[in-house]
Amino acid sequence: MTIDGVTRRAFDGRDRLATQGPPVYGEPTHDGWRAWDARRSKLGAMLEKGMETGLDGGETVLYLGAASGTTVSHVADFAGPTYAVEFAARPVRDLIAVAEARENLFPLLKDARKPETYAHVVEPVDVIVQDVATRGQARVACANARFLDAGGRLLLAVKARSENVVADPGEVFEGVLDGLAAEYDVLETARLEPFHDDHLAVVAEKR
Ligand code: SAM
Repeated sequence: MTIDGVTRRAFDGRDRLATQGPPVYGEPTHDGWRAWDARRSKLGAMLEKGMETGLDGGETVLYLGAASGTTVSHVADFAGPTYAVEFAARPVRDLIAVAEARENLFPLLKDARKPETYAHVVEPVDVIVQDVATRGQARVACANARFLDAGGRLLLAVKARSENVVADPGEVFEGVLDGLAAEYDVLETARLEPFHDDHLAVVAEKR
């Protein structure tokens, strides 16, 4: 993995992913670098697992399911303009505070199932990062494909239990991958254990 603005550094004697920016969630810092905790971040776990995300640094990003900004803060540390969609008002309050220290991070209190409500704000992007943990994760990814040109990347974390609490995760993942086929070619998949249980990470390309 070589992403401009992402490195590996030792924090408390442990080799960790790190980005440069103001701290957000109590993560260890050193010399302006902040540890990126893969146990709190599906994208961090994808990088730890060596997935080919296609990220180089400097990309324009649409991040769906930003919550209070744990992962999207790291993304904004190495990316260009970063649009962060979250539909719950309480975490967005924290996200706004995170964005105050990052001029390229734009929080949007919006529902990712309704991209038409933010299409007037979000420019075409190079990458969509999605971690919405809600039912219909493939539908959300397909609805937002309009922001990508052909060849643009989707970096998706699918949470099995959000689709179906009782079904076998493997079957749930098959269903989500089938749903993505309407808009995307899947390039790589990986389970995110031991960082996150019953999550499938997907790297896909807009067709
Ligand atoms: N990506 C975050 C991180 O790593 O820092 C954690 C995201 S959390 C697992 C999932 C988030 O998706 C929640 O904050 C939830 O409110 C949000 N979410 C779920 N459905 C959504 C939707 N339809 N539109 C926008 N946000 C949604």
